[in-house]
Amino acid sequence: MVLHSIYDINEKGHLTVSGLDSTELAKEYGTPLYLLDTDHVRKMCRTYKEAMEESFGSDSKPVYAGKALCYSGIYKIIKDEGLYADCVSSGELYIATKAGFDPEHIFFHGNNKTDEDLRYAAVLGIGHIVVDGDDELDALEAIASNLGTNVHIILRITPGIDPHTHKKIITGNVDSKFGTAIKTGQAKEIVKKALSKKNIILDGLHCHIGSQIFETEPFVDALDIMIKFMSELKKDLGYETSLLNLGGGFGVRYTEKDPVINYTANIEKLGEELSRLCLLYDVRKPVIYMEPGRSIVAAAGATLYTCGTVKEIPGFRNYVSVDGGMTDDPRYTLYQSEYTIVNATKAGEEADFECTISGRCCESGDLLAENIKIRKPSRGDIIATLVTGAYNYSMASNYNMIPRAPLVEISRGKANLAVRRETFEDLISRDADPTKKG
Ligand SMILES: *Cc1c(COP(=O)(O)O)cnc(C)c1O
Repeated sequence: MVLHSIYDINEKGHLTVSGLDSTELAKEYGTPLYLLDTDHVRKMCRTYKEAMEESFGSDSKPVYAGKALCYSGIYKIIKDEGLYADCVSSGELYIATKAGFDPEHIFFHGNNKTDEDLRYAAVLGIGHIVVDGDDELDALEAIASNLGTNVHIILRITPGIDPHTHKKIITGNVDSKFGTAIKTGQAKEIVKKALSKKNIILDGLHCHIGSQIFETEPFVDALDIMIKFMSELKKDLGYETSLLNLGGGFGVRYTEKDPVINYTANIEKLGEELSRLCLLYDVRKPVIYMEPGRSIVAAAGATLYTCGTVKEIPGFRNYVSVDGGMTDDPRYTLYQSEYTIVNATKAGEEADFECTISGRCCESGDLLAENIKIRKPSRGDIIATLVTGAYNYSMASNYNMIPRAPLVEISRGKANLAVRRETFEDLISRDADPTKKG
């Protein structure tokens, strides 16, 4: 198959994921089932690391955005490959550090970190706290001073990229719950304030313009704005920015309509622009970090379901219901994200059946795709959604009290259970027992 190298069809006409027969995996582990090719994850880590070192300088690093896929095992891979990690909650910090990830190699994000979050991060010795705004800076200083420690921070800046020019890009906009804006003058003020704080060490700046971006132009625009801002800081405050974190956001090919993305070429282009802009604005080249999430893990994943009811409504549409849905993949329900879906049992046969793939939850909006074509399935066939490594497992819920699906890692042709399926006991493990007297 063409979408990504890990998917293929074997002599039985079954979909294979990383060389393994998907219908066999479904039989062994049950469905719904998340699959993750960790060799592919590692390959993407290396692609970023090598390209960034080559294009930005040897100190540059990819920082894996754990919100895309967060479970203990992913941190071993990220650590092995020499990437840093980005966490967005104390829960993610807990998982990363429990998994043996060096806290010094973590960036801690969030637009509304609580005092408990900040204290937890300071106590763990998190490498960089990405301070979102003014009151967080004050709160963090108080906590650091209380603990008698220094904390290293970078400041999240909103570059103010025009969302009309780049429609998909919304988080780098001035009107955003994230970061401090350059346009309003607040960004310079917060830099000044951070420099005056006693227990705070300002190591640099951060910006993140959005996700699922296919072109380099929005990143070049952001780079231009940020480097220009750095030159103002140098002139007005005598502050030289040594670290610039450009956030995440390179896109992923979910369907044949999406372009094939050359990450290395994109990073090379950004490297050239960085050198040009630093000369233009007369600033020293900062160390560049980037925070890829989905582009590291998405194309390494697939989700397997078992087909249940096939319902044909003449003159309307056909529904193929699977044994999962918005509980394991809420992305269609949330953003109408498009996916490539196949009848894995009959992957070698022509996709002849126009249908809507629906989940099993009691919600009409619980859909995985609408008006797509797959080979007409029968009850019991295995249905696969491709490119589900990112924002599926990490966004899963227990709605309708459906136990969350297990995650199986595949490496060198071997499958290994990395997260077991949730049990009914898990579902009530936090409940007080109402049958107990007292
Ligand atoms: C979501 C996010 C990322 C990762 O975005 P992807 O689209 O998954 O690459 C990186 N940095 C920040 C601050 C984010 O919010």
